[in-house]
Amino acid sequence: MLYLYNTLTRQKEPFEVPAGQPVRIYSCGPTVYDFAHIGNLRTFVFNDILARYLRYKGLQTHQVMNVTDVDDKTIAGAQAEGVSLQDYTRRYEQYFFEDLETLRIEPAWEYPRATEHIPEMIALVQTLLDKGHAYEREGSVYFDIASFSKYGRLSGTDVTQQPGDAAFSRIDADEYDRETVRDFGVWKASKEGEPSWDSPWGAGRPGWHIECSALSMEYLGATLDIHTGAVDLIFPHHENEIAQSEAATGQTFCRVWMHPAHLIVEGQKMSKSLGNFYTLRDLLEQGFEPMAIRHQLLTAHYRHQLDFTMQSLRESTQALQRLWDFVDRLNASPAAGAHNQWIADAVDKAYADFESAMDNDLNVPGATGAVFSLMGEVNAALVDGDLDAQNVGEVNGFLERADSVLGYLSHEKGALDADIEALIGERERARADRDFARADEIRDQLMAMGIILEDTAAGTHWRRTD
Ligand SMILES: [Zn+2]
Repeated sequence: MLYLYNTLTRQKEPFEVPAGQPVRIYSCGPTVYDFAHIGNLRTFVFNDILARYLRYKGLQTHQVMNVTDVDDKTIAGAQAEGVSLQDYTRRYEQYFFEDLETLRIEPAWEYPRATEHIPEMIALVQTLLDKGHAYEREGSVYFDIASFSKYGRLSGTDVTQQPGDAAFSRIDADEYDRETVRDFGVWKASKEGEPSWDSPWGAGRPGWHIECSALSMEYLGATLDIHTGAVDLIFPHHENEIAQSEAATGQTFCRVWMHPAHLIVEGQKMSKSLGNFYTLRDLLEQGFEPMAIRHQLLTAHYRHQLDFTMQSLRESTQALQRLWDFVDRLNASPAAGAHNQWIADAVDKAYADFESAMDNDLNVPGATGAVFSLMGEVNAALVDGDLDAQNVGEVNGFLERADSVLGYLSHEKGALDADIEALIGERERARADRDFARADEIRDQLMAMGIILEDTAAGTHWRRTD
């Protein structure tokens, strides 16, 4: 049974959907005004793990992720560059999709763009006006938070403590803090030089919060099974989404709210001024392997802060290399030994450990531990050539299942690997010709490249030094 921590109830709850029904997941997507940083990517990798594990459990997922291509930040960015909003946002949207692919994040069901759903947002704003949950001022429309008694439940914000109580003042900005609980803009009157759309209240554009309420309703219906987003979206964004959606439909907006924690870099909050601000491209330029970055982003439980350091990224690189070497060795094994029942038992235990960790609120570090301990146990049998084809098949079967969730276990051999294997082939020919001086020379050359050779009954294997 899968248990997920629900921010709304502040506890882990069993997660179920009626048989045959897809899991309806809404994940707040990127605001396409800049490259995603590794903190954003941690959230996107979390969304991927969630959907992958639900599918592992045999469920169907309908995951919708919006692309925010109109808001305060995208408009400011386009204006600063003097290009159209569309030209500006499509560029960063393209980079976003490239990042997802590089990190092997499986595509969501739908990625609706905000600007392609303005009529649905206008209709929702009209519903809020009709039901008395919103009011118009000078061409803008504001949500009346005093009209929604459950306001503040998700974030634990005590609305009665706020000054003004019955009549809140208004806020136009999309982002603000908890000390600034205000009636927020769901439709913003057009300003000079900003893109705008016609509406019953004159030219304007949607507020950021209304976008997610309208899109989730459009694609997934009134009630979601799971809503995800980084922890800093709890207030005001998700609080406002609940208010808009429930005020409009009269139904529960979302059953389970999941919020991955922040990422810090070298023990500090990531910021451009500290020089510890990284995009995926920054790390790739430094020569890091994309899957090592994915592995690193998954080293802490999603509700714990992750300290992303260059040292830990190097450790992830080594861990991944050990894993890949193991996979290669397994697949190169002649599997000519005896059948080992203990390997079959170890594989069963690996499944049980992997699933019980994942069932416990997606404990990825625990699940990864199950993969690495199986690797440790089977390695010895591989070196001794002491396993048969059935054993190899069972271990591979588990690795494939685990990889359907983790996503970094499979790899293609790079050019470097081909060079190494050519040298190993040459050394084997030298040994067959009894040219031991040449064989030793090649062994030393490989050692200098950080490659250790192991001559076993089943042939020569190689691995990288740690
Ligand atoms: Zn959102």
